[in-house]
Order: sequence, then structure tokens, then C-alpha cells
Amino acid sequence: MKLTFFGTGTSSGNPSLGCDCRVCSSDDPRDRRLRTSALLETERGTRVLIDCSPDFRYQMLRWISTLTVDSPFRNFLSKAKQSNCIPQLIDGVLVTHFHYDHVGGLDDLRPFCIAQPMPIYADAKTCDYIRDKYPYCFYESEYTFVPRFHTIKLFPLKSFRIRELSVLPLQVLHGQMPILGFRIGKMAYLTDLKTLPEENLSYLHGLDTLVIDALQRGGNHPTHENIQDALALVERLAPRRTFLIHMSHNAGCHSEAQAFLPPSVSFAYDELVVEIPE
Ligand SMILES: [Zn+2]
Ligand SMILES: [Zn+2]
Ligand SMILES: [Zn+2]
Repeated sequence: MKLTFFGTGTSSGNPSLGCDCRVCSSDDPRDRRLRTSALLETERGTRVLIDCSPDFRYQMLRWISTLTVDSPFRNFLSKAKQSNCIPQLIDGVLVTHFHYDHVGGLDDLRPFCIAQPMPIYADAKTCDYIRDKYPYCFYESEYTFVPRFHTIKLFPLKSFRIRELSVLPLQVLHGQMPILGFRIGKMAYLTDLKTLPEENLSYLHGLDTLVIDALQRGGNHPTHENIQDALALVERLAPRRTFLIHMSHNAGCHSEAQAFLPPSVSFAYDELVVEIPE
């Protein structure tokens, strides 16, 4: 399967508004980090979005522009009109938690909810939040071009399937707040965590790819791991390789990161595509 990083930045994104530090004024495109989200695609064409950031619309446009003309995403609405057949291009959205930087783009899923309501997988609190913030997506209305959602409540350690994909939700702590991370095959995606409860460690062995929150270099943050915290977990979990996400400008410049990271760990960056064995 293939993971495309749609965004790798913290809630304010990089550059941070009103900041001209070295990272925020860097002209290296890898230092321009939109809000964190990713798209997972399998060989069989199953596609799952992980979180839907406020930058989703731009992230999707940017990604589609990199695809070949025969991709089902290119010009899909016009093609659907001609053929009278609307494909379900995204099979579901896995939502880690209800913070704005992870759900702020949900309304922009509109063109992907025409064939059928979009399944949104999240914990009970996040499902309630989405119903509360986007009530018009849950009932028939006179507005024809609104997204249609269908929420599915998840419980930690109760695995479920999206087509052929088996997904295991894991509870992690975002400060005091329990949120979800996901193990999917040989990949785990853990964003916005400060602490991984010990009882989850056994579900995270044998990973090919770990994607993990690392807000900043040094310093203590109440709700996020810093890079040192992430590296300590990497040592315990021993994945083949690790990509750091949800980075703020205090994580530093991409070009300088490898000097202080072990060889198996790197900063992810927007539009990076990685192959993960299924
Ligand atoms: Zn976040
Ligand atoms: Zn800055
Ligand atoms: Zn958060």
C-alpha cells in the first residue's frame, strides 16, 4: 500500500502566521507544512483518508495535479456526468480526534460524497462533535450540493474493515484526552499524542512504518511529544523506519534534521509518498 502525506504540520501550519524565523521563512518546500493528514491507498484501489485538515481542498487539488491523466481522480465529476456513473473514490475517513486541524476540511469532501454518504470512522466523542458541527450532512435538505456523512463509532482494540483493509484503533493520550491512533497492517499512524499507554505497546511490534507525532525539538509540551519523546518510543517499538509528523517551526528545518535523527527516522514532508508492504 501507499501512504501520501497530505500535510505534516502542527495546528497552525508552517509557516506560522506572523513569524519569520528560519523555518517559517525557509524556501525549502519541505519546510512548508500544511495541517496533518494523509491518504492511504492499497493495490486493490481502496483509499482511506486519515484526518481531514482545514487544508484538505488545497491538499487534494495539489495531489490530483501530480496524477497522470488516466487517474480516476482527474476530472472525475465531468467524467461521471458523461458516463452517468459516479465512482466512490474515497472509501472512508479515519478521524483521530475532533480538533479543528483534523476535521476542519470535512465540508470539502462534498464531491466525494455523491455516490453514497462518506463513512467517517471515529470515537464516540468525535462522531458527536461532527454531527453537532455539520448537522446538514446527516439529513436530506433542499441544498443538493452538501456533503453526506455516515458516522461509524470506533472502540479501542476493536478492529474493523474498510473493504480489504483491517484497521485496529488504539487509544493514545493527547495530554489528558484519549484519542485514536491506527494500526493498519505493517503501518501505525499515531498523531497528536503525548503518551502511549503501556498496554498498547504489544500491538505495535513488527511495524514496517511508524508515523508519529513529534511537535518540536526539545522543550516540554503538555499535549504533544517532542522529537526526543518520539525517538524514545521508536527505540522501544523498533519499526523498520519512522516518519515524524505534526511538526511546528520549533522542530527545525528539514535539511538539518538528519544530522540529529537516527538513520531510520526522518521528518515526513508534504506530498511525500511512501510504499508500505501489505
Ligand atoms: Zn493536531
Ligand atoms: Zn516560525
Ligand atoms: Zn489535537
